Amino acid sequence: MMDGPCVKVIGAGLAGCEAAWQIAERGIPVTLIDMKPHRLSPAHKIGSFCELVCSNSLRSDNIENAVGLLKEELRRMRSLIMDCADKTRVPAGGALAVDRTLFSRLVTKRISDHPLISVEEAEAEDIPDGPCIIATGPLTDGKLLESIERATGTTLHFHDAAAPIVTKESLDMSRVFASSRYEKGSGADYLNCPLNSEEYFRFVRELVSAETVELHEFETPKVFEGCMPVEIMAKRGDMTLAFGPMKPVGLVDPNTGRQPFAVVQLRQDNSDGTLFNMVGFQTNLKFGEQKRVFSMIPGLGNAEFVRYGVMHRNSYMDSPGKLSYDYSLIKRDDLYFAGQITGVEGYVESASSGFTAGVSMARKLKGLPPIDFGAETAIGALGHYVSEYNGSDFQPMNVTFGIIAPLEKAPKNKRLRYAAAAQRALGRIDELCKEGI
Ligand SMILES: Cc1cc2nc3c(=O)[nH]c(=O)nc-3n(C[C@H](O)[C@H](O)[C@H](O)COP(=O)(O)OP(=O)(O)OC[C@H]3O[C@@H](n4cnc5c(N)ncnc54)[C@H](O)[C@@H]3O)c2cc1C
Repeated sequence: MMDGPCVKVIGAGLAGCEAAWQIAERGIPVTLIDMKPHRLSPAHKIGSFCELVCSNSLRSDNIENAVGLLKEELRRMRSLIMDCADKTRVPAGGALAVDRTLFSRLVTKRISDHPLISVEEAEAEDIPDGPCIIATGPLTDGKLLESIERATGTTLHFHDAAAPIVTKESLDMSRVFASSRYEKGSGADYLNCPLNSEEYFRFVRELVSAETVELHEFETPKVFEGCMPVEIMAKRGDMTLAFGPMKPVGLVDPNTGRQPFAVVQLRQDNSDGTLFNMVGFQTNLKFGEQKRVFSMIPGLGNAEFVRYGVMHRNSYMDSPGKLSYDYSLIKRDDLYFAGQITGVEGYVESASSGFTAGVSMARKLKGLPPIDFGAETAIGALGHYVSEYNGSDFQPMNVTFGIIAPLEKAPKNKRLRYAAAAQRALGRIDELCKEGI
C-alpha cells in the first residue's frame, strides 16, 4: 500500500466501481461513496452496486462491432466490470447479456472484499478537497449537481434530446445533394434528402403510427419542452413537418432542378466528416422503428445508424474543452469525472471511462507519466470524443467506429475495414499492457 492520500470515488455504478478497483489494484487506498440504499435514484431499485437500470445486455461481443472491441480492450486490461459480466453471462446470441442480480452482487462483493477499498454509505452534496472521481451517473441532481456546475463552470444538460446519427458512407449519394439553404455558409454545409409529396405523406403516416419508448414517471413530456419529438410534431397535422424541420425553402434538388416538396437535412457531426446527424429529428421512437421509418427517407434506404435518437433524463457536462482525454478537469487536475455524466453513453462506455479515470488518477498519484490509449483504440477514442468534440451541439455518444481514428490504408469492404481497425486497436492495447498500464 502506498503512503499518501486516499482517493474518494463518488458513485458506485459502472464507472465508479471500475475506477475504484483500478486505483486500489495499483496500491492506493480508496473510499467509495454511494447514497444507496439510504436514497435510491428514480431509476435504481436495489441496494447493491452497479445496477443495470434497464436492459441486461452489454450489447455486441464481436470485435468487428465497436462496443465488442471496447469490451475486448477492457478484458485485456483486467477490467473488473468485464470480469464480473463474463462470470454472470446468460445466453444472448452474439451479445453479452448478464444475470443483472448476480452481476450486481458479484461486483459489490469484489469491491467490498478488496482490502484497499472502504465503502461509505452517504449522499455527497459537495465535491471534496483532495483526489476525487465523480461518477454519479445520468440522474445526478440536487446540491451535488450545483456543486459540479460551480467546479466546472458549466450548466449541466438535464436531458438528452438527441437525433439519430448516420455514417456518410452508408448514404445513397445519387439521391442526396449537398447544399445550404439559399447557399449560405460554404454553400454546401448540409446533405439534403429530398422527398416528393407522395414520399412525404407516406413517411408522415408511418411516423405517426410507429411505436415509441415508454417514458418513466420522472421523464414527463414537460421535461422535454422546447425540444419536441419529431413524431409528436407530425401528429399536429400532415403539413407540420413540411413547415418545420422538413421545410424545403432555399434548396434546389440538382436531380430535378426544382425545390423538393420536403427535405430531411443532415448536418456534419464530426471533424472527419464521416458522421451526419438528422437535423430536428430528436425522437422517442423505439430503435427498430427508427430504422424502419427513417430508412423510408430517400438516400437513407441502407443508412447505418451509429446512434439512434433518444430523449431521456440525463445529466451530463459540456465536457469538450473542460475535461482532458483522461477525464480529469483541466482546471483542477486532482478532480476526475467518469461515466454517463461526462457524455459517454451506455454501460460499457461508462465502465471504460471509469477505467481510464481510475488508471490515470493512480498514475498521477504515483508520479508516473499520463497514459493516452490513443484515438485508434475504442477506449481512447471515447476520451478524445468527450474532451475534443468540436461541433456546435455536444451530445452523449456510444462508442462507434465513426469516432475511432480511420486507418491509413483502409479496405473498401466495411467488415474487413472494421476487422483491421480492431486488430490495430488490440495491438496497441497489448503493447501498453506489456509496458505496464
Ligand atoms: C432510465 C434509464 C435507462 C437506461 N437504460 C440503459 C440501457 O438499457 N443500456 C445502457 O447501456 N445504458 C442505459 N442507461 C444509461 C445508463 O445509466 C448508463 O449506461 C450507466 O448506468 C451509467 O453508469 P454510471 O456509472 O455513469 O452511473 P450509474 O450506473 O447510474 O451509477 C451512479 C451511482 O451514483 C450514485 N449516486 C448518485 N448521486 C449520488 C450522490 N449525490 N451521492 C452518492 N452517490 C450518488 C447512484 O446511487 C448510483 O449508484 C439508462 C439510463 C437511464 C436513466
